[in-house]
Parts: sequence; structure tokens; C-alpha cells
Amino acid sequence: MHKMKKNILVIPGDGIGPEVTTWGKAVLEKVASLFGHEFTFQEALMGHVAIEATGDPLPAETLEKAKESDAILFGAVGHAKYDNDPTAKVRPEQGLLKIRKELGLYANLRPILLFDELLNASSIKPSILKGTDILFFRELTGDVYFGEKNRSADGNTASDLMIYQRYEIERIAHKAFQAAMTRSKRLCSVDKANVLESSRLWRETVQEIAKQYPEVHTEHMFIDNAAMQLIKDPKRFDVVLTANLFGDILTDEASQIAGSMGMLASASIGDGIGFYEPIHGSAHDIAGKDLANPLASILSASLMLDISFGLKTEAELIITVVKQVLAEGFRTNDIADESTNPYQVLGSKEMGKLILKFIDQQVYSH
Ligand code: NAD
Repeated sequence: MHKMKKNILVIPGDGIGPEVTTWGKAVLEKVASLFGHEFTFQEALMGHVAIEATGDPLPAETLEKAKESDAILFGAVGHAKYDNDPTAKVRPEQGLLKIRKELGLYANLRPILLFDELLNASSIKPSILKGTDILFFRELTGDVYFGEKNRSADGNTASDLMIYQRYEIERIAHKAFQAAMTRSKRLCSVDKANVLESSRLWRETVQEIAKQYPEVHTEHMFIDNAAMQLIKDPKRFDVVLTANLFGDILTDEASQIAGSMGMLASASIGDGIGFYEPIHGSAHDIAGKDLANPLASILSASLMLDISFGLKTEAELIITVVKQVLAEGFRTNDIADESTNPYQVLGSKEMGKLILKFIDQQVYSH
């Protein structure tokens, strides 16, 4: 077995961030000890906690530690104080935007992995959903978010420049095609090439790159159609490649077909360090109450093992154990329904501990 030595930075952040990352980290420690890997952990501040401590949502020390690490496990940032004050100049989410830029994290990967036991939690019919397994590649450092912004002198006209350069499309397209090669070899690129020039460059570039992956069946779809198809027939998608704005909207739509925020993980990658986080935020409404579902952070740890370290067996083991816990009827509050045995509704800590116990059992039974 190949033993690995890795340096992991944990950034718990705000609200339920620390409550969930504790368990993502615990799972990484457990896997390391069972498989003989050597993972060392450091911790750093970001978000509201960092503003309180240093005045800066991304202190220089955090960025330094991040650049020295092999991968980062992140919780969430945010605080009610800023949500109610859109004019606040220093804000927790600035830390997140800055670290993405500094680390060159240009691709956001969001797997939409559906667990059969939770099909009823979605607003879509289980018969349509069953078997859905989509991997989104959303471009993260270009598009209208980073293009030039203008407001006229009288304040009545505003614009945001939608801009892409060919290399920005090429590098994420390669990542998406490489992933498609390891999956079902189907890739759908989503754009609005009938109307937008930046989308025409997007489509032209993806068509060029596709020639290098002749085994992958590539299709191009307009964003409006993709938004509709995702609800109508989610199983038709496998790898979906799209720009920043379209990806922002489509991945949130897709998270709802999965039913719960507490179950979805994401990875942001570039050409170096990977950044792994649940898709949910800091959830102030449940912070400190032992109610947060730790499974998204635990699945983020699985993504880290797979994508950054290439440890497929270890990554798969975590997914298997999450499935097993659900199959045996255990739930956190957010994924419980009227059919759940009340004695099997667990707090964050109990759920975390149960996952660790089941990982042990899986490994020792083989
Ligand atoms: P949220 O994701 O924090 O919460 C939305 C709803 O889902 C809440 O009712 C919450 O209780 C529930 N929920 C979320 N995660 C859960 C979990 N693990 N277990 C159980 N229930 C869970 O989104 P929001 O309420 O819109 O935002 C709250 C704060 O989070 C804001 O300050 C926002 O800016 C921030 N935020 C941060 C990130 C991030 O750090 N990546 C992402 C989104 C929102």
C-alpha cells in the first residue's frame, strides 16, 4: 500500500463551520491511522472570527499556512451582523473570494451524489431522480464576477462585463474532460452561444479541446434549456462544464434536486492546492446547538482524498460508510422525516462518532 505524508490546513470559520469540520478532520485522521498515512494538521482563521481577532477576514498568517499546505478543509464563513448590513466594508466572504484568487482555484467541482434513502427529501419525484450522479465543473475566477463594473454618473445605468479569455476556458475544459474519462465519458458544456460573444468563445474552445478526447461524447446545451432539463431528466447529465454565472445558478438548482444542503460537498481546484468545503453556509440559526449535519464536511474530506491525494479506496470507503449509516436509518434533524425512528435522529457529535465507528468496522471486516 502506498503511504502518504500530507500537510492539511483546517479553516473552520464561523457558525456551524467548526462543528462540522471537526468531523471532516476526524475522518481524515481515522483514515490516516487505518491506512498508514501520515497527515499533519494546522488550523487557521478566516471570516468573522478572523475579523474579530485581527480586523482582516483573511489574515496574512492564514494565507501563508494555506500556501504551505497540500490541501485545505474549510467549514463556512458568515455572520448575521453582515447579512443585515450590506454596506459593511469589511466582510467575512471577502476572505473566501480572496483565498480562491490567491490560490488560483479556477475550477469548482460539485458532485451531485444522491443517496437512495434520501430520495424522498427532494421536491422531485423519486422515480425521476433515482440513479442521478452529476459532476459539475463551474469556472470560478472569470466571467461577470470579475469583469469591469461601471455605474454612470447619474447612478441610473450600470454594467458588468462578461469576459473570458481562451486559456481560462481551456484549462477548466481539460479538467472536465479528464474527469469525464474516468466516469461515463459523457460531457455537457452549457453556454448561451446563440446570444453571447463570450459564450461563442466558450463553445468554440470546448469544441477544440473535445478533439483531444475523442472517446468522450460531448454535447453543447443552452443554459435555459439546461436549467429545464436538470429538473425534467437529471439522469441525462454526467459531467457538466459551465462558466461562473451559469454554474452558480445551475449548481444551486442541482443542490435542491439532492434535497439537503447538509449532504453536499465541493472542491475548488487549480493547478496546485485543493480547497474542500460543504456547499452550505454558516447556518447561524442552528449554530452551537449540535444540530448541524456533519456529512457534507465528511464528504468534503472524501473529495480531498480522491482529488488532491489520489486515494480512491479511502475516498470510496467514506462514501460507502455514509450510505451504510443512512441505510441503517440514522439521520440528523435536517434529513429526518416522519418515517424516521425518533431514536435514530442524531446530533452532530453522535453522527460524527457513528461514522468513525462504521469506518473502523468496514476496515476490520475486510
Ligand atoms: P446556510 O447554508 O448557512 O443555511 C441555509 C439553511 O440550511 C438554514 O436553515 C440552515 O440551518 C440549513 N443548513 C445549512 N447547513 C446545514 C447543515 N450542515 N445541517 C443542517 N442544516 C443546515 O445559508 P444562509 O442561511 O443563506 O446563510 C447563512 C450565512 O452563511 C450567511 O452569513 C451567508 O453569507 C453565509 N454563507 C457562507 C457560505 C460559505 O462560507 N461558503 C455559503 C453560503 C452562505
